Amino acid sequence: MSETETFSFQAEISQLMSLIINTFYSNKEVFLRELISNASDALDKIRYESLTDPSKLESCKELFIRITPDKEHNVLCIRDSGIGMTKADLVNNLGTIAKSGTKAFMEALASGADISMIGQFGVGFYSAYLVADKVQVVTKHNDDEQYIWESSAGGSFTITRDTSGPSLGRGTELRLHLKEDQLEYLEEKKIKDIVKKHSEFIGYPIQLVVEKEVEKEVEDEEEEEEDDQEEKPKIEEIDDEEEEKKKEKKTKKIKEKTTDTEELNKTKPLWTRNPDDITNEEYSSFYKALTNDWEDHLAVKHFSVEGQLEFRAILFVPKRAPFDMFETKKKRNNIKLYVRRVFIMDDCEELIPEWLNFVKGIVDSEDLPLNISREMLQQNKILKVIRKNLVKKTLEMFSEIAEDKENFNKFYEAFAKNIKLGIHEDSQNRAKLADLLRYHSTRSGDELTSLKDYVTRMPEKQKNIYYITGESRGAIENSPFLEVLKKKGFEVLLMTDPIDEYSTTQLKEYDGKKLVCVTKEGLELEEDEEEKKAREAEEKQFEDLTKQVKEILGDKVEKVVISNRISDSPCVLVTGQFGWSANMERIMKAQALRDSSMSSYMMSKKTLELNPQHPIVKTLKDKVASDKNDRTVKDLTTLLFETALLTSGFSLDNPNEFAARIHKMIKLGLSIDDTDEVVPDASSESVPELEEAESSMEQVD
Ligand code: ADP
Ligand code: MG
Repeated sequence: MSETETFSFQAEISQLMSLIINTFYSNKEVFLRELISNASDALDKIRYESLTDPSKLESCKELFIRITPDKEHNVLCIRDSGIGMTKADLVNNLGTIAKSGTKAFMEALASGADISMIGQFGVGFYSAYLVADKVQVVTKHNDDEQYIWESSAGGSFTITRDTSGPSLGRGTELRLHLKEDQLEYLEEKKIKDIVKKHSEFIGYPIQLVVEKEVEKEVEDEEEEEEDDQEEKPKIEEIDDEEEEKKKEKKTKKIKEKTTDTEELNKTKPLWTRNPDDITNEEYSSFYKALTNDWEDHLAVKHFSVEGQLEFRAILFVPKRAPFDMFETKKKRNNIKLYVRRVFIMDDCEELIPEWLNFVKGIVDSEDLPLNISREMLQQNKILKVIRKNLVKKTLEMFSEIAEDKENFNKFYEAFAKNIKLGIHEDSQNRAKLADLLRYHSTRSGDELTSLKDYVTRMPEKQKNIYYITGESRGAIENSPFLEVLKKKGFEVLLMTDPIDEYSTTQLKEYDGKKLVCVTKEGLELEEDEEEKKAREAEEKQFEDLTKQVKEILGDKVEKVVISNRISDSPCVLVTGQFGWSANMERIMKAQALRDSSMSSYMMSKKTLELNPQHPIVKTLKDKVASDKNDRTVKDLTTLLFETALLTSGFSLDNPNEFAARIHKMIKLGLSIDDTDEVVPDASSESVPELEEAESSMEQVD
């Protein structure tokens, strides 16, 4: 015997295993689906390697999965002739390297998820411990010797060179030593049912080794001897009937046990069949086998393309987003590529754009060469055409989902980010994707509105589609920027997803109408002549004030102007048309690795807009008119600017100075004589800036 090495499971995996062993859970049969799915993955891998190097198959030519129940020892064996694992693979893949899914799955379980979801989290192998208390993995990779991995959980596993067992040639055999109360998984019928239910569409033959008792006729030796004595003289005289009788006499029936293999998944690939003959149940079990999902799909599109180029495809939209959709290390997409029914690979980048990475399915091409390599795929023209068609059909599928409001809401909740990413990236399909967008608006209440519905509600004089962006609905719903728009009866879309900033700047317009951000400069607001004249007159009237305010604020603002977009607030801060909005500035500040040179450029332009109707602004104007250098004007202007920062969605660079100014106002309100005060209590934490600010406030009185 060769040496046995012992390894510790990575802590989270160990935790997961005891959870699997100890949780009361009745639907244990999913283990078989997981192990068959691993076998199928391993077969995919060797088949892919063999396309460029056929000699890799020599170690075992047949590609199969074989289930053997051993009732004598209570062991269920699941064998495949897949790629197998080297010793290093065993150490890494089965126990020592943590996957993000381990923790995510345990958290999901704690919040009520079902164990059958295990496959989605990339830890399906450990489901073997639902039914087994000891698991052995015998495996042979082309590049290594045959090894046995073994564990009865409890925090450790062993690996041993397999020198005595039967050679696998290539592949893996799992030996599940079943728990005493799980012996039903050795029953032929049970296994057949489970495979039919969960693994019918696996692309390799799943064989079940069944024991057969066959009745066999054997010659009865005693009688034979007797017969021998009489037979020869009589033989000529016997008629047919008696001949029969005589045979019965000479032989007897005995029962003999033999084994036989039965193939359990003989159905032809679903995509090769006519869509009209396929039931939704069939699509659903195909989908589940393909994706490990425990829920049905939300939508399916099954189609073929013929002509210069031929392929068939089935595409699915799941009901929810995967837990790790935007994790960068994740495989790029979920479309499996087949060539003439032979599986080629399952994350072919060129097949579908990244923003559609949640779409699952298969594509079977008639035209691609079988031995296509990843490098060849990059320039492949056929693939480009396939990709275009897949995107087109996917968009059709989305529009079909949109016909049912309830389904579409589910879809949009899960995949709105992808749609918006698509708008950002796919200029050709931008217009179609824009139809799928939904937003809250100042008129939509709790519902979401489409751009199309928004446009139908637009009053005649309204030319643009207006929107505002911010952190939450609450933060923007009552924004001063909406005041005049509300008065004019213009609806405003409320956008709260960070990605909206990117997608709307790309979209630019919908149905010939410009998308206009109401917090940015240059808002025209469809003024009529009268309104325009009035504003121009006000601009003149307030010229001294705007000049003076600009002087006081200095570099803090680019410009100070008279506003046409506010009616109740004294002022707002707007940003340059092509710079960042306040919301975008917030998003960028939250991103640790932003490029600071870029941000100072993008952040630089803020314009203070003053409301000429507002009593504060009017009074300030009068004060400036009587004394240009009035100190109150200076301080109050700074305070106005700081509050405008807040109401316009920016953050304060120096909250303490702001607080000091407010406290000063409070004291005035309470008629506290400032000179009586020692150090104010509420601000004792923020000493230096505060004292500075306080002393500057002294001048107010
Ligand atoms: P996943 O299949 O999502 O990767 P699993 O926990 O089911 O997660 O399997 C872990 C890993 O163990 C697989 O990624 C694979 O590398 C390896 N593995 C499991 N079963 C087999 C098998 N039958 N043949 C080869 N490798 C396997
Ligand atoms: Mg798996």
